[in-house]
Amino acid sequence: MPWDPLSGEQREIRDLVRTLARERIAPRAAEIDASHEFPWDVVEVYREHGLFGLFHDERFGGTGTGALLALVAIEEVSKVCATSGLILAVQELGSLGLKLAATAEQQERWLPQLASGEVLCAYALTEAGSGSDSAAMRTTAHLDGDHYVLDGSKRFITNAGVAGLYTVFAKTDPGAGHAGISAFLVEADTPGFEVARLESKLGISGSTTGELVFDGCRVPAGNLLGEEREGFRIAMQILDRSRPGVAAQALGIAQGATDYALEYARTRETMGKPIAEHELIAAKLADMETKTEAARGLLYRFGRMVDEGAPEGELTKASAMAKLFCGDVAMEVTTEAVQILGGYGYIKEYPVERFMRDAKITQIYEGTQEIQRLVIAREMLKETRAFLLAGVG
Ligand SMILES: Cc1cc2nc3c(=O)[nH]c(=O)nc-3n(C[C@H](O)[C@H](O)[C@H](O)COP(=O)(O)OP(=O)(O)OC[C@H]3O[C@@H](n4cnc5c(N)ncnc54)[C@H](O)[C@@H]3O)c2cc1C
Repeated sequence: MPWDPLSGEQREIRDLVRTLARERIAPRAAEIDASHEFPWDVVEVYREHGLFGLFHDERFGGTGTGALLALVAIEEVSKVCATSGLILAVQELGSLGLKLAATAEQQERWLPQLASGEVLCAYALTEAGSGSDSAAMRTTAHLDGDHYVLDGSKRFITNAGVAGLYTVFAKTDPGAGHAGISAFLVEADTPGFEVARLESKLGISGSTTGELVFDGCRVPAGNLLGEEREGFRIAMQILDRSRPGVAAQALGIAQGATDYALEYARTRETMGKPIAEHELIAAKLADMETKTEAARGLLYRFGRMVDEGAPEGELTKASAMAKLFCGDVAMEVTTEAVQILGGYGYIKEYPVERFMRDAKITQIYEGTQEIQRLVIAREMLKETRAFLLAGVG
């Protein structure tokens, strides 16, 4: 039997997700890509089977089955449909502010709805002029009586228009760079909040990506997440936990592409034998499988670190490494899968061109690959200093 890091109960859930992915989501994947429509039917499948609960503790209606299994679930779904994998990953991204920084009252109010999937959520940090450099954001919030008033806009927000709850970052102290950022929970029906437009994209076409506009948007003061000016720390802490969700999406895409290319190479014949038996194709397949397995090692290690209670400070580097490596592997492997299918790889009737288009975003969102490298190097430098200070160097 192949090595499996999951417990018996976790394996049962993984197998359920795998079956749902194969039977309910895979047949829809090409259509979701072509229609550019958000797949509410997939959300229903998740709701029916309690899959949004994988990201939550039992006290909020979740399964309490841990971080590793949640990542495995995103991976399993992304093997067949990256848009559907992203719906799970963003439900985690949009919930993390509540999990990490909310009051007990805020958690009790919103987490059960997010764990059941009754309400979808989103995370709104990026603006037109501030992506990698979130300290440059221009959205502001000021206290007016018992409400904060938000003004500004957010760009490229996943789940725009389908989410009921947004974690929004805005400056309560506009002159103070990242130290002036605060975090807010904004419900979709708040007056002054609007989804202004949705983007047309290269991949993950069924996922909505939109612009949010806040025009005198009055948010109850009780929706402040953490304290004023803690927003940047909260935003980064969320990303430490959520980037592995993108890594899991990338890993699933890579495995899906490898599996498809393998099957194709077994049956497609040139020069009298299956292309899998031509050494150059065999070598590609071997590299694809090896890189994907190496990526899985980094990702699962992160899941186990969380489940075994590793300190928050140790998660930053592990998370960035998993996202960086899985994203790059997904891009390389899907490009090779297209190559293995030859002309057919370029044609929409076959799924590998979709895998390749979907893979690209995993190198961009939740911090580009360049930013991951900066994060990893910064953490390395911190470690070096600690090592030298300990007098060992
Ligand atoms: C489909 C999609 C969904 C998204 N979903 C969300 C979401 O749900 N919530 C959200 O808040 N955001 C979301 N984003 C935004 C995404 O996280 C940003 O696009 C990303 O962080 C990059 O920011 P930018 O586009 O402004 O690029 P820039 O920051 O302008 O970067 C441009 C290029 O310069 C490089 N670069 C920038 N700074 C440095 C540096 N210091 N050193 C080296 N290289 C650097 C970048 O790596 C990149 O290659 C989404 C984006 C897309 C396309």
